[in-house]
Amino acid sequence: LEPKEEFEHSSLAVDVMRPRRSDPALAVLTQEGMTVGEVEALVESTHYSGFPVVVSQQSQRLVGFVLRRDLLISIDNGRKRQEGVVSSSQVVFTEHTPSQAPDAPPPLRLRGIMDLSPFTVTDHTPMDITVDIFRKLGLRQCLVTHNGRLLGIITKKDILKHMAQITNRDPDSILFN
Ligand code: ADP
Repeated sequence: LEPKEEFEHSSLAVDVMRPRRSDPALAVLTQEGMTVGEVEALVESTHYSGFPVVVSQQSQRLVGFVLRRDLLISIDNGRKRQEGVVSSSQVVFTEHTPSQAPDAPPPLRLRGIMDLSPFTVTDHTPMDITVDIFRKLGLRQCLVTHNGRLLGIITKKDILKHMAQITNRDPDSILFN
């Protein structure tokens, strides 16, 4: 990533984040209440490298971030090695297991694979600052919030594409270390 002049148009995080207005909603997991089958269906219906975890669909409060590959490995391990884990088992990212019906199958606890403090910026954060953060912290993605509610995600590739658009260059020709 090169000189800051490229950002003099002062774009904001909200201009670069996904989803765009016409895109499908952000694919998120809830910290409790989803089944193994539902999580698998969500992961398999997308190609995203990761998924934010929120308190609930309604609140959209950010709890953490899980990588696609960790989710798939842990679900596979759970199904194979953990007695009673089936498609209808609840996936739990909370510290304590929520109460369940007595006849419910055992839950699959996945808090251990969640990044508990994913990096976030607000929708109004200028892109030059966001890019600085990506560079300095070596981020692959960053979440975007508004008043504490999760709005979107920015990946390193999103930034490269955005810069290429601004400067009319091939994204691969832009240095990003
Ligand atoms: P990359 O940008 O490196 O290809 P991804 O495959 O994770 O990384 O993301 C592809 C696109 O989808 C990016 O534009 C990104 O902003 C967006 N995206 C990433 N994760 C999600 C998600 N959970 N829900 C919706 N969009 C996402």
